[in-house]
Amino acid sequence: MNTASTLPHLWLPYSQMHTAPFPVEAQATSGSTITLADGRTLIDGIASWWTACHGYNHPSIRRALITQAERMPHVMFGGMVHQPAITLAQRLAARLPGDLERVFFTDSGSVAMEVAAKMAIQYHLNKGHAGRHKLLSFRGGYHGDTLAMMAICDPEEGMHRLFGAALPQQILADLPTTLAHSAALEALLARQGHEIAALIVEPLVQGAGGMLFHTAETLRQLRRLCDSYGILLILDEVFTGFGRTGTFFACEQADITPDIIALSKALTAGTMPLAATVARKTVFEAFLSDNPLHALMHGPTFMANPLACAVANASLDLFDQEPRLEQVRAIHTQMTHELEPCRHLPGVRDVRTLGAIGVVELERLDDPEALKRAFLKEGVWIRPFRRIIYLTPAFTITSDELTHLTGAIKRVLKEHLG
Ligand SMILES: *Cc1c(COP(=O)(O)O)cnc(C)c1O
Repeated sequence: MNTASTLPHLWLPYSQMHTAPFPVEAQATSGSTITLADGRTLIDGIASWWTACHGYNHPSIRRALITQAERMPHVMFGGMVHQPAITLAQRLAARLPGDLERVFFTDSGSVAMEVAAKMAIQYHLNKGHAGRHKLLSFRGGYHGDTLAMMAICDPEEGMHRLFGAALPQQILADLPTTLAHSAALEALLARQGHEIAALIVEPLVQGAGGMLFHTAETLRQLRRLCDSYGILLILDEVFTGFGRTGTFFACEQADITPDIIALSKALTAGTMPLAATVARKTVFEAFLSDNPLHALMHGPTFMANPLACAVANASLDLFDQEPRLEQVRAIHTQMTHELEPCRHLPGVRDVRTLGAIGVVELERLDDPEALKRAFLKEGVWIRPFRRIIYLTPAFTITSDELTHLTGAIKRVLKEHLG
C-alpha cells in the first residue's frame, strides 16, 4: 500500500507519514459533496471540520468573494480599517449576547484563543490585579495547536502529550458535571482562585476532545464561580459558534455572557481563514489609559483580511435570509432517529446528538483506518477519531444525503464490530 510519505513534498497534519495511507485528492466541491480527482463523488459528513455550514460553493458566498477580490483583496490593518471589517464587527457584536462588543480579528481559531488568553492576562495587569497569570481549563478540552494553547488542552487524551515538559504549567480541572467534580473545582478555586486570570471552556461540546457534551447548568455554574473569584470567563466557540449546537451561539442556551469569546471555523462558512476574539465593554475599557504599555500587543499580518470579512458578512446574510436554525433542528431530529439503532449494536458505548452534531461512541476503536476505508467505499466522507464516529454536516444537507450518511455508519459498524 502506498503511504503518505510517498506523496511528494507535502507534510500532512497529525499523520505518521510513514504509515498513514496515501490521501485522496479532492478536485471540486458542491453543496454537501466532494468530487475526487479519480472521479468519485463523496457525500461529506464533516463539512470540512464543521466549517462549511451553508454547504460548499454557495452562490452568494462566491459572489461576495469575487466582488471583494476585484475591489481590494487585502490591505494591512495597522492604522487603516475597511468597510468589510467594520460591518462584520458591528454585526457580530449585534448577534452576541450582552456587551460583547469589541472585536479583534485574527486568522485561525488557535490564534483567536491566544489573543483571548493574552487579553485576559493583560486585563488583570492593566487593572493592577497582582499575580493573576494562570489559565484554568478542563479535561477533554481542545483550544488549538500553538504552544500556549497546547498547555491548556487535555494533557492525556490530547494530541500534545509529548510536549508536556516544554509547556507553561497551567491549571487543569474536571468539568463540574458531578457533585464530586463541583466540590473539587470549588476547593481548587478557594486555594488558587487568586492566581487565575481566566477560566477557559468550550461551551456545551468539547469538540476535538471527542464530542463530549455537558449541560447549560454546568456553564451557568462556571459563570457564577468566575464572578465570585474575579476570574474572566473565556468561551471557546470556535467549534460551537454559528448554529452548530442549535442556537446561534452555544452560550445562548445557558443564558450567560462570557467576558471574552473566540469564534472561527464557520465564521466564513468554510471559505477563508478568519477568526475573531470578542471582548466585553468592561474588558476593553481596562486597556484604555495614557500608558502605551496598556495597549493590546498583538497584530497578525493578515488580520481582518477583506476577502475573509466579505464572505463572513455574506454568511451572516444567509443566516438572516435562510432558515438555518430550523434546518439544524430538522437535522437533529433526523440524525437522532436514524443513529438511535446503533445503540444496540455490539461494541457501541453511546449514541448522542446535539444540534447538527451526531456521535456514535464505541467501546474501542483499534483500527480507524479500516473504518475510513469502509466509509470511502460507501461513498461518504466520515473520519472516525479517538473512539467516535461523528457527523457535523452542512446545515443545507438534504434529507436523502443525511440518510446516506447515517446508513453508511450503520452498515460499516455492523460489518466491523462484534
Ligand atoms: C478547531 C478549534 C480550535 C483551533 O482552531 P484552528 O483554526 O485550527 O487554529 C480551537 N478551539 C476549538 C474549540 C476548535 O474546535
